[in-house]
Amino acid sequence: MKPAVFDYYSPQTVHEALLLLEQHGFEAKILAGGQSLIPTMNMRLASPKVLIDLGRIGDLESIRLTEEEIRIGGMTRQYLIEQSPEVARDCPMLAEGIKLIGHPQIRSRGTVGGSLVHADPTAELPVILCTLGGAVTLASLDGERVVPAEEFFLTYLTTAIEPNEILVAVQIPRIQAGSGHAIEEFALRKGDFAIVLAAAAVTLDEAGKIAAASLGLGGVDGAPVKLDQVTDALLGLEPDSRLIQECCEQIRDIVEPEADIHASAEYRRDLSVTLSRRALETALSRARLSLSGSDNR
Ligand SMILES: Cc1cc2nc3c(=O)[nH]c(=O)nc-3n(C[C@H](O)[C@H](O)[C@H](O)COP(=O)(O)OP(=O)(O)OC[C@H]3O[C@@H](n4cnc5c(N)ncnc54)[C@H](O)[C@@H]3O)c2cc1C
Repeated sequence: MKPAVFDYYSPQTVHEALLLLEQHGFEAKILAGGQSLIPTMNMRLASPKVLIDLGRIGDLESIRLTEEEIRIGGMTRQYLIEQSPEVARDCPMLAEGIKLIGHPQIRSRGTVGGSLVHADPTAELPVILCTLGGAVTLASLDGERVVPAEEFFLTYLTTAIEPNEILVAVQIPRIQAGSGHAIEEFALRKGDFAIVLAAAAVTLDEAGKIAAASLGLGGVDGAPVKLDQVTDALLGLEPDSRLIQECCEQIRDIVEPEADIHASAEYRRDLSVTLSRRALETALSRARLSLSGSDNR
């Protein structure tokens, strides 16, 4: 299968790319790793007249640390995140979750910005970003704006990005002492998109009680679902497996997944409960390790 004819531009700077976007408007599409866009073009589900390839803009490929955040450039390839010692140390959920994306071949081309803007409901990165309270930076000719993850993902394959904007960076909070991260998913085959995935982060206070917790799900709605009502019930407690199981049972009544050719709605509900419980238990045990001064990964 071949795509429809298109014009190809390869700008050297973000400004040049933004000028091209402004000039070509709805006829243009940004090309990042091409792992989602090119197949859709080959199947003629998308036929942009203009492709603006960000591949030569070196400034967009970076992993930087500030005191509180990891800032990753929009064109950073997924395999670079997978190999980064800083990401492994400062954001174990991202280090673990990125390995669940497709296969090494996909991750060698696929980018963080491409995955976030594509916004597949079972993609790992959107769920991780929502669970950890991250944000994206979007640039246009008018300047930059920062959009929190929970406002960025709207529904199936749809985000708050405007047609004249480029995702230039993503910011994710660094893990703190006394915290643990975990991500769990079920896919039919290794490397496939998940049917359902759950990500959890837990922070303990010095007495071993839960000071903060968050839980996010993918595959149960068009956008990641954050389950604050479940994690709020754990605050101030020193939970055991039974309490976590009881809290997670509520998820069955909270989520409203749809059935598709891969799984029934009821099966997705079951997975939501089981994977959430596993993710919370693992995050909790890693937080306990961190509190005791051991490694929390
Ligand atoms: C076989 C296979 C298996 C896969 N498995 C998984 C999986 O398990 N989990 C998963 O999460 N993903 C999976 N993917 C998708 C993969 O992660 C893609 O890399 C990702 O969805 C898109 O990233 P990309 O860099 O290739 O973007 P592209 O395909 O180039 O672009 C995707 C979309 O985002 C837009 N875009 C890209 N970058 C920007 C930017 N910086 N600013 C504005 N718009 C932008 C493009 O215009 C396009 O609309 C799989 C893909 C394949 C082919």
